[in-house]
Order: sequence, then structure tokens, then C-alpha cells
Amino acid sequence: MRLTRRDLATGPGALLALGALGAPAVLGQAKPRVVVVGGGPGGATAAKYIARDSQGAIAVTLVEENETYQTCFHSNLYIGGFKSYDAIVHRYDKLASAYGIDLIRSRATQVDRERKEVVLADGQRLPYDRLVLSPGIDLKYDSIPGWSKEAEEIMPHGWKPGRQTQLIKQKLDAVPDDGTIVMICPPNPYRCPPGPYERVSMFAHVLKTTGRTKARIVILDPKESFSKQGVFMPDWEKRYGAMIEWLGPKVHDGIKSVDPKTGTVVTGFETYENCAFVNVIPAQMAGAIARDAELAPAGGYCAIDPATMKSTTDANIFVLGDACNAGDMPKSAFSANNQAKVAAMVVRTELVRGPSFPARYFNTCWSLVDTDDAIKVGGRYEPKDGRIVAVESFISQPGESDEVRKQTQAENIAWYDAICADMFT
Ligand SMILES: Cc1cc2nc3c(=O)[nH]c(=O)nc-3n(C[C@H](O)[C@H](O)[C@H](O)COP(=O)(O)OP(=O)(O)OC[C@H]3O[C@@H](n4cnc5c(N)ncnc54)[C@H](O)[C@@H]3O)c2cc1C
Repeated sequence: MRLTRRDLATGPGALLALGALGAPAVLGQAKPRVVVVGGGPGGATAAKYIARDSQGAIAVTLVEENETYQTCFHSNLYIGGFKSYDAIVHRYDKLASAYGIDLIRSRATQVDRERKEVVLADGQRLPYDRLVLSPGIDLKYDSIPGWSKEAEEIMPHGWKPGRQTQLIKQKLDAVPDDGTIVMICPPNPYRCPPGPYERVSMFAHVLKTTGRTKARIVILDPKESFSKQGVFMPDWEKRYGAMIEWLGPKVHDGIKSVDPKTGTVVTGFETYENCAFVNVIPAQMAGAIARDAELAPAGGYCAIDPATMKSTTDANIFVLGDACNAGDMPKSAFSANNQAKVAAMVVRTELVRGPSFPARYFNTCWSLVDTDDAIKVGGRYEPKDGRIVAVESFISQPGESDEVRKQTQAENIAWYDAICADMFT
């Protein structure tokens, strides 16, 4: 028998549900309350699994400031012309109606940890028994001298979704045949470690297929090495010749400043003038709501218990996805979605009881290099000595057959459809 949320709340179903799941841990209250802030892979997944698996015994509220969710994942495929913009935009309606989640479209401005309440932009206060925070990242606008919030219109980052992603595509489309694109990469730890390098591949793919083969792309990296470097670099050479140049810190000697007015980038070694397009991907930190709740060190990410995804500062709060320090797990949608399922299980077990399992985590990050040519890196992770640690890993190899690469891209496409269905339906 399938029970609706109303059956469970008011009818004989309430007894049945409590019998199946155990008595609520929060006494004197009709239903335990969970508030989730952020409707990305961490928050949307957590809201769904808590609501679905508690069969209506927990009241779940999802607070999301945007009406739609535009995925950063596969935004590079949009930039490369492999997906339409509409294909990376998703709505919350089905998620809310299918699982009885109260969806509030607002910005959460404060967490009152003492009173266990989330404060919204209009002053409304949402009491919670457990709070799940998955607000993603904020950008450090002061991490590149000369760059700023205003400058992101001219030198876009494209590291938060929406208009920024579209700006990147517009700027790419306007690059002349002999133009220079400079990408400034972020320092670790940041959202989507292979993301900048997949994006560069997409830039090169578009330039090549539109005949702008004299254009060049210079990557200025503050890191000595980058994710899947040993696969990306030979692939770039094979696919795009000398178009892409990667410069590590020992070569460029530091990124000193940018000037959005003139399109200039100054490094310790060289000055790039009149750049056709500069893509600044700055340093990052946990989203404001988590930092302001004092769950993260200044400018950093929130420490969590690896077995539960609970904040180490406040046991009533879970921090998921890009906003937390997940040890060896990269900041990816795949990771956030996985972490959400562990948190949902812990929340359910604590508030209404029910089965529990030891935390196990997985991740795969696919990157498209060219048409039907994708590579991947991933692993399996477990809690150990207070951290999430990698216990198995795998990575694509240079020189794999066309068939393997095509198959890897097919997995990438299937994964996107599956995670979006998991989050939003
Ligand atoms: C170019 C690029 C490519 C990527 N490719 C991949 C990929 O191929 N595979 C992969 O797994 N990952 C990829 N990622 C990474 C992935 O997008 C992130 O890791 C993932 O989105 C993190 O999920 P999250 O839930 O932590 O945060 P987010 O997805 O950022 O979601 C946070 C949500 O919270 C909302 N929010 C924030 N603060 C508040 C507040 N105070 N009140 C209300 N709402 C709030 C935001 O509006 C947002 O909807 C990519 C990222 C980029 C930039």
C-alpha cells in the first residue's frame, strides 16, 4: 500500500508509519522538522531522501533562492555546443509535489543555532530539529588583484551557474581567429577539480570547428599540477596541436594582476595584452550561510564528521557538497549527491529511527575533451581517522581507443540524466 503524506500525518497511517519507523525522537511535537538550505545536488537529494524514506513522518522544508536550478555540471558541454542551455535547467515542482516537501523560494540569511531556527530574507523563522546546509561555494573576489564583482561582467568566471555560463559562451563566440584567451585557474580546494581543463577543451573544440585555428588559449595555473593532467595534456596535443598552452607557477611566476578595461593579465614572467577574453576562476570558500553560522574557518570550508556528514561544530547541522571539507572526495555533484544519502539516512535514523548503514561514498568526474572523446577519474571513499579517505581509485589512460573514449562519453551522458532524475523527480 502506498501512503500519502496526509494519511501518515492524520489517519491510521500515522500509527502504521510510526510502527514501521519507530517513535519520533522529538517528543511533544507532531512531526520532527528538517530544514534544508540549498537545492543543488546536496540539498535537493537530501530533501528528497529524507521525505521519501521517512514516508511523511518527518516534515521537510527546502529553502532555495532560485526558481530553477541550472547545473554547473555539463555547463561545459553547453559552452562546447554539445547541449542546449535549456537542457541544463531544472525545476523543483515535481520534487516538491512527489514527496510532500515544503518548497520555500527565499534566501536564508541566518542560522540561529541557539534557538535552532533558520531566518529567511523576509524575517520569517523556520524552526528545525535538524538542519541540512548545502549552499555550494562563494567566490573570493579579492583573490586576483584588479578583479572584482563588477569585473565579472567583463572577465567572467562561469563558476556559478546562470548568466555567467552564458557570458562565457558569448565571449568565446566573439574571439577572433588570431585572438588570445587567458584562463586563470583557481588554487585548491575548489569546485570541480577537472572543470577548468574540460572547459579549455571545449574552448578549443569550438575554435577548431569554427575555423579559428590561429587563436590560442593560455592557462595560468597557480597549481603545480592538475586533475587528469597526464591524460588531458597528450589529448590536447593530439586534438588541438599547439592551440592550448598550460603554464604552472614556476613558469608564469605568479598572477600579479588583471585589468578588465584593457583586457590585460600581468604575471611575474609576461604581460598578456588585448586578450580577446579572460576567464577568471578565482579562489573559493563555503557559501555564506555556512560561514556566517561559524561552521567554517575564515575563508574556508566546514569540517564534518565523515561517518555522518554532521558539522563537527554543531551536531544538529549537516553540511554537504562543496561547502564542506570532504577529505579526499572532490567537490563534485556526484560527491554531493552521495553525501546527501548518508546524511538523509542519519537524519531519518535519529528522528524516526529506521535502518542505518555505514557511510560509503563514491565519485566519478567525467570530462569531455572533443566529440565522442571523454575521460574520467573516480574512486570509492570511507571514513577513516576523522576524514573521508580514498580506498580505491581509477583514471582514464592516455592513448585509449576511440571506442573506450566514446563509451566513457556515453556514461557521462547517462550519469547526467540519472543524477538529475535522482535530484528532481
Ligand atoms: C564548469 C563546471 C563543471 C562541472 N562539472 C561537473 C561534473 O561533470 N560532474 C560533477 O559531479 N560535478 C561537476 N561540477 C561541480 C558541481 O557543479 C558542484 O560540485 C555541485 O553543484 C555542488 O553541489 P552543492 O549542492 O554543494 O552546491 P550547489 O550546486 O551550488 O547548490 C547550492 C544551492 O544552494 C542555493 N543557495 C545557496 N545559498 C543559499 C541561501 N542562503 N539561501 C537559499 N538558497 C541558497 C543556491 O542557489 C544553489 O541552488 C562542475 C562545476 C563547474 C563549475
